[in-house]
Amino acid sequence: MLDIIPNIAGAYFFYQRSQHWSRGRLEAYQDEMLRRLIQHAGKHVPYYRDLFREIGLDPQLFRGREDMHKIPLLDKEIVRTRQKELIADNAEKFGIVWESTSGSTGTPLHLIVDRGARSNKLVALIRSYQWAGYTLGKKTFSLQSYYLKDADFEYNRLYRVLRFDSNRLKKESACGVIRVLQKLKPRFFMGFPFDLLMLSRFAAEEGLSIPAPDSMVTYGETLSAHKRASLESAYQCEVFNYYSQHECASMIAECERHSLHLIDDFAYHEIVDVEGQSIAKIGTGELVGTGFYNYAMPLIRYRTRDDVVIDKNNPTCACGRNFTVIKEIIGKQCDYIETPDGRLLGAVMSHSIDNGRGVIVSQCVQDALDHVYVNLVVDETYDEESQRALKRDLRKRLGEEMQIDFKIVPQLEKRPGGKTPFILSKIGHEYA
Ligand SMILES: [Zn+2]
Repeated sequence: MLDIIPNIAGAYFFYQRSQHWSRGRLEAYQDEMLRRLIQHAGKHVPYYRDLFREIGLDPQLFRGREDMHKIPLLDKEIVRTRQKELIADNAEKFGIVWESTSGSTGTPLHLIVDRGARSNKLVALIRSYQWAGYTLGKKTFSLQSYYLKDADFEYNRLYRVLRFDSNRLKKESACGVIRVLQKLKPRFFMGFPFDLLMLSRFAAEEGLSIPAPDSMVTYGETLSAHKRASLESAYQCEVFNYYSQHECASMIAECERHSLHLIDDFAYHEIVDVEGQSIAKIGTGELVGTGFYNYAMPLIRYRTRDDVVIDKNNPTCACGRNFTVIKEIIGKQCDYIETPDGRLLGAVMSHSIDNGRGVIVSQCVQDALDHVYVNLVVDETYDEESQRALKRDLRKRLGEEMQIDFKIVPQLEKRPGGKTPFILSKIGHEYA
């Protein structure tokens, strides 16, 4: 974190200005950033050096958005299996840090996100939160997987943020934090929809009231119209959606006027159909992103596996910004787990299947209050050590009383409707 501080001030002022650019200026910026990235990748990234040679693409002649279709899409499977080739030979120049994520379908992925990408992401995120009513120093309540050592929650006076560890979400801890909320009255809330909804449910059951904030931002799972309405009514505040991923390949945020904007000065976004062709006008397609800033490990035309709906009939927004407007994000699907000690774990669980070497996709299925099994589709690099590491991570979240088994399967289980949720509940904890 400390290493990105020098980058942040400059980036902050850049993002404050660039949100008011004309469409023409934004597009010129995208072309310029794509040209630079493709030239860097062609020179320093083994995977792209070979790929560009293979497809006959000369980085020096690359023009920008209009040439992007010439580069094949990049999926998580390539990143997983050819990760070393995707790292620039001069990566250390960009201050690399290893991170991992499991994405929406539980695919483990190890990637490096460099200093430039991290500082740009942080600053673009802060700007998105500002659209949702956040101001620097505003008292905030944040539910996240903090892994707090000795407490369910803690208040940081310097940052004025009350942090509640979503791994500890159960009725007792919820009541505890609600009493603190009643005292501190934070004006801005953030967290996964699931955790915020459960918190409000516990409050209602116990007859406790949560002081209404001005607004909240949610992320990490799909914010359906139904969930949004439930949150608005439970918290009596405006709700804003935010979407991004560790890969820094895309970002979507909701503005003051409640339009969803592709953050066009952070990444170049495309929406593609099942054949990988760009969808031009109206329809649903997979979001494909190219982040401008991760030079240590450039991901070009990266498939997010999340679908979005576009409606080009309504291209402008009353907020005055020229970032592309989309209609809807259709992302992660998952149920939730109840642990024997009464904690409820939603999409936050997806991070536990990280670091599983050889795991292509995974799924956590609960079939009894004290039993889960994990379906794994694996390759030949999966071994006992991978399984031990997975079990360790799951144990940390699920606690000692839960029995955990692993199953190597040819494919994941589907719900009757055909969806493949990352967490599948067979004890009635469906969540949609
Ligand atoms: Zn807008």
